[in-house]
Amino acid sequence: MSANLQTPIDYLKGVGPNRADLLRSELGIHTYQDLLNLFPNRYIDRTRYYKINELLQNSSEVQIVGKITDFREVPQKRGKRLVANFKDDTGMMELVWFRGQKWTRESLKINQTYVIFGKVNWFNGKFSMPHPEIELQSEHESNLRSAMQAIYPSTEKLSNKGITNRILTKIMQQLFLETKGRFAETLSVSIMEELKLISKSDALFNIHFPKTPELLLRSQFRLKFEELFYLQLQLILKNLIHKSKIKGFVFDKVGDYFNTFYNDHLPFELTDAQKRVLKEIRSDLGSKAQMNRLLQGDVGSGKTIVAFMSMLMGLDNGFQCCLMAPTEILSVQHYNGILELCKPLKISVSILTGSSNTSQRRTIHKNLENGTLQILIGTHALLEDKVKFKNLGLAIIDEQHRFGVAQRSKLWHKNDLPPNVLVMTATPIPRTLAMSVYGDLDISVIDELPAGRKPIKTVHRYDNNRLKVFRFMKDEIAKGRQIYIVYPLIQESEKMDYKDLMDGYESISREFPLPNYQISIIHGKMKAADKEYEMQRFAKGETNIMVATTVIEVGVNVPNASVMIIESAERFGLSQLHQLRGRVGRGAEQSYCILMTGHKLSQDSKTRLQTMVQSSDGFEIAEVDLKLRGPGDIMGTQQSGVLNLRIADIIKDKDILQQARYYAKQVLKVDPSLKSPEHKLILNTYRQMSKYRNIWNYIS
Ligand code: ADP
Ligand code: MG
Repeated sequence: MSANLQTPIDYLKGVGPNRADLLRSELGIHTYQDLLNLFPNRYIDRTRYYKINELLQNSSEVQIVGKITDFREVPQKRGKRLVANFKDDTGMMELVWFRGQKWTRESLKINQTYVIFGKVNWFNGKFSMPHPEIELQSEHESNLRSAMQAIYPSTEKLSNKGITNRILTKIMQQLFLETKGRFAETLSVSIMEELKLISKSDALFNIHFPKTPELLLRSQFRLKFEELFYLQLQLILKNLIHKSKIKGFVFDKVGDYFNTFYNDHLPFELTDAQKRVLKEIRSDLGSKAQMNRLLQGDVGSGKTIVAFMSMLMGLDNGFQCCLMAPTEILSVQHYNGILELCKPLKISVSILTGSSNTSQRRTIHKNLENGTLQILIGTHALLEDKVKFKNLGLAIIDEQHRFGVAQRSKLWHKNDLPPNVLVMTATPIPRTLAMSVYGDLDISVIDELPAGRKPIKTVHRYDNNRLKVFRFMKDEIAKGRQIYIVYPLIQESEKMDYKDLMDGYESISREFPLPNYQISIIHGKMKAADKEYEMQRFAKGETNIMVATTVIEVGVNVPNASVMIIESAERFGLSQLHQLRGRVGRGAEQSYCILMTGHKLSQDSKTRLQTMVQSSDGFEIAEVDLKLRGPGDIMGTQQSGVLNLRIADIIKDKDILQQARYYAKQVLKVDPSLKSPEHKLILNTYRQMSKYRNIWNYIS
């Protein structure tokens, strides 16, 4: 290689200290390497010329041939702007300069033929182009113009400081000149041959200066593959190292607790998916490596019984187990359910939450430390330093997305050895993303609902149909069913026009008056004890309607509730809507979900509502959600490096991701330590990446 790619960008001819500072602060470009990896957002055809009458209000960069007919200065709030009329044989538009007006005025001439290039705006009924790239047609023709010119990412500050796309392109050309465009190969010969990939040097050249559309496509493929390959390699390696290094407690026997429960007390037949997942967990727990498993299962798929039976495996081997849930209500519900399951087995269970009092705490602390307490269920309170287990063997975390990474790892430090960890989530993460985000966790999926569940009927209703909805509610209540009504907010905290919970509560109380109807209300500002009281009233069937905010989103289980009404449904994200809907459909009756909205809906809101009406498949919904929101909002993506990808797109390139994962696995299967000569390039690149980009430090 002729130039070291770690050379600071300041040294590149044509950059200089000012531009270097801007490149660093605006685009994070510190070295030659960083610049080389500034991949274009898109390409435009510089052999194509537009006529002014072809322009559309949403045209992006265009190139036009024409003449300036006159200049004028227009005063504005601060200073003035320079405006030129620019004309071709089809029409007239304006060119505008806010800076560099003197120079522009002196160097451009009226009635000469120019080629202008830039982004057009539609303003005051006219097309205009601010700060066009402009050159005489004669000069323009002597420059070679590609049919695919790279357009680089930019920022307002960069373009304000005159670092236009043209300048970036020039700098890039200079980089290729100084390095002679030769770059070290980073993939093994066999992968290159099998996938018929083009070389690294060719790929980099053509990504910046495509010679043909075909070469551009092949370059994109090669670079995306490479990026995803190394992401996967790192994740898989981490998983392997984890398994070989981190010893866990071994639960090698299946004992009385498990067998007695399985044979005599199982409340229902397990689904095949539940059985499969239990086997996966069992095999982890029986191995010497610490279990680190994510259990995904749609709402209502029956994760709790799986969690419970996993705990029985722990108890059978003499270990304590804990189950942590994100809210008090959910902890209490888990506690009650598990207490019930434990009764015939004579297992000691306690619950610890923020509202446990001092004497309860004292007893729990004591019994945890002396080992008589076998299962502890609770909220974040489990993480307090005072909570010390005698021998915690298995920690289960429900609804993982509410807990941060740091909190999870805190559970680990309650022992010398980390406990086995099972993380349960009802937010289905699309497989493509899961592979990248949780590539170092093992994943189990319950992809089957217990038999006999009727699909929930979901409809979208406008607010002006409320009376009909009320009538429907009354019919359902008359049949003995219960109803949830969920609002997005507790109080009008912002000046938005959506219904606030209290208004809603009042109108519901008017429509469903005492003593015929009983209404519960729960919101985030209530005391835990009051929430619990209301929740219990509803769970016992003493109230007909539960008016609530999203507090009830997570996990609550009231099988007799068969109607979920979501107010201002357009305000909720897709996965949240799906979670809320999952509160019903848990019993034998037909259940309904009614999405209430006003008439004004954005395109995204419409898509969300339609998706809900059409689909009840959590994974399908998650895919749509991911498309609408991007991976940024999904827990774990921040840490995983998925968002730092430079060229691949985790959603659009999921096929490439799959291939990359396959090859990464293949390589590590035959050569786990990357020691063979064939993998030397891979090892080197891997080391380099780990050195320069610390994007993979998460979860464990
Ligand atoms: P989630 O996965 O959302 O946490 P739960 O574990 O709360 O779901 O289970 C939802 C409901 O389904 C509970 O009432 C539970 O008792 C019931 N359930 C779980 N597994 C089965 C099964 N195999 N057959 C019938 N009912 C089941
Ligand atoms: Mg649950």
